[in-house]
Amino acid sequence: MSEPARIELHTHVEGALTPSRLRELAARHGLPGLPAACLTADGLAFAFAGFRDFLRLYRDATSCLLTPADYHAVALDLAGMLARDGVVYAEAAVSYGVLLWRGIDPAPIQAALWEAATEAGERLGVTLRFIPDAVRQFGPDAAGRALDAALAGGRARGVVGFGIGGDETALPAAAFAAVCAGARAAGLGVTIHAGETGGPEAVREAVLACGAARIGHGIGAVLGALGDGARAAPPPAAVDGTCALLASRRVFVELCPGSNLATGAVPAAAAHPLRELLARGVPCGLNTDDRALFGLDLRGEYARAAETHGLTAAEAAAMQRAALAAAFAEEPLRQSLAGRLA
Ligand SMILES: [Zn+2]
Repeated sequence: MSEPARIELHTHVEGALTPSRLRELAARHGLPGLPAACLTADGLAFAFAGFRDFLRLYRDATSCLLTPADYHAVALDLAGMLARDGVVYAEAAVSYGVLLWRGIDPAPIQAALWEAATEAGERLGVTLRFIPDAVRQFGPDAAGRALDAALAGGRARGVVGFGIGGDETALPAAAFAAVCAGARAAGLGVTIHAGETGGPEAVREAVLACGAARIGHGIGAVLGALGDGARAAPPPAAVDGTCALLASRRVFVELCPGSNLATGAVPAAAAHPLRELLARGVPCGLNTDDRALFGLDLRGEYARAAETHGLTAAEAAAMQRAALAAAFAEEPLRQSLAGRLA
């Protein structure tokens, strides 16, 4: 039986950096110590221990991404991985927050990403759109600058949304309410990483204060906030209220179970609350997040969900329909995707 066509809504361009691409770019930019600082001793995978160390690894590894050519190469790598996963449409986050922090103008980077997307469409049959995102711990002013850069010409180069990523514990989502309102007013869909390490209130706030149409991760809505390596069980009323909010507003939760396991956001694959979110009627689907950094693919995510959580083919297909409904794609594209997923 042939694999179904898929769409993926939560995958980071920077997270498609492979060990071999890291070595190549580190050599190109004169960063000889970088591979050893980021990779396992055999050089085949990225090395980190727990969520906070992953943020460190993310910062270090992506420091080799400096030029439009670098981003073009990584975006094409991503497209190749998506094609192998049977993905026909993906929305890829690109951290404008990190670019601006490094003093890099996002405009030529976005132009290179759009060039890669055009190539991916023609050669691989993968349609790519982009979600510039801001880094939460850099604060609302920096997020505003990221949004300004996204709006300055991004629309014509595949930008369909705006995101807030980074360290959820650094600042509440409400600090970004004005920036997110600006994004929505400009016609961009808003997605916020929330409930990855935060609890139900963090998810709720991202929806109510920022108008997030999608939530990245969202597992804290059920599991509660991650403390020192463990989650404190949240009050049942907070879980009920947040899940009901997500379900009634059709806020799509971009689940990333393999990522959550890799960072320690869940202690075991079986601890991921995928089943509970489905049972509560929360629209959700599976994603790889930082696929190459974690060594994941979307095919494997669906296979593991079937194995671990008993996800059926019908439930997986429903997840894909929910993902399509939550996609920020423009209307003609959305209609053609509906035909391809059917
Ligand atoms: Zn993410």
